[in-house]
Amino acid sequence: MDINRDYPCDSRNYRKGRRDSIKYIVIHYVGASGGARDNAKYYGSSSVGTSAHFFVGHASENGAVYQSVDPADCAWHCGHDPGGKYYHPECRNDNAIGIEMCTHQNASGTWYFDDITVEKAVELTKELMAQYGIDADHVIRHYDVTHKTCPAPFVLDAQAWESFKNALRSAGVEEYTAANDIVWELAHRGIVLDSDGMVGEMEAEPDGRLYWLGRKLVQYIRTHEGAAKQEVEEYTDVHDIVWDLNFRGIVLDMDGMEAEMKAEPDGRLYWLGRKGLQYLRVRD
Ligand SMILES: [Zn+2]
Repeated sequence: MDINRDYPCDSRNYRKGRRDSIKYIVIHYVGASGGARDNAKYYGSSSVGTSAHFFVGHASENGAVYQSVDPADCAWHCGHDPGGKYYHPECRNDNAIGIEMCTHQNASGTWYFDDITVEKAVELTKELMAQYGIDADHVIRHYDVTHKTCPAPFVLDAQAWESFKNALRSAGVEEYTAANDIVWELAHRGIVLDSDGMVGEMEAEPDGRLYWLGRKLVQYIRTHEGAAKQEVEEYTDVHDIVWDLNFRGIVLDMDGMEAEMKAEPDGRLYWLGRKGLQYLRVRD
């Protein structure tokens, strides 16, 4: 990915070199409304005694990533406050890369990330994981080290953090793209029964919602294997189905999806959404 290095950190805010090898990636939120460029400039020109390796920007800057401190050097991002303590047995500034995600605050004071900030943070984290041989279990929140409420959107909403971690884990599973493979996998799991008709319909509209729902569903299932079955009541309401699929990050175009399912309440899109979701929910 493109990483901007125009504003290296002021040398007063970090220490050259490391006393340990890189073992962790620590995710933070900026906790102020400045963008990645503004932050990189600020840390590059002021003595503040704290730092991070990367800043991931707002939607207004297209999620641009700025490197402030070189990962070879020790940034000061997850040390404890004076008198504070560590809650993590091993993760410290000397063995961690710190990523700051830019944020906004809504009218009620809640901090949130732009979607693209999350997407770019996932992309950056995956690249660093590959580069430094770090697995998803070693990607943690600042909160996990010091109990600071950072990154607030991932501390106050545990599900959002879980989604972020799942997005990192999906790195290892290559996504099926052929309609045949997708439908075979869905049929094999008992989610769709009419595999011939389904393949035909997906192939007839290779960019259609049925194809994409099937594809994303299979990818989600394949990266979330494992949990035991349980009894849950099946959602039948279109809004419930689409809301849950959206919540899991499987569909993003909630309104369009809902409208299309409602327009054809007995159609394949509705049934794939309904049965696919049921399959996931009994394994939650
Ligand atoms: Zn933090």
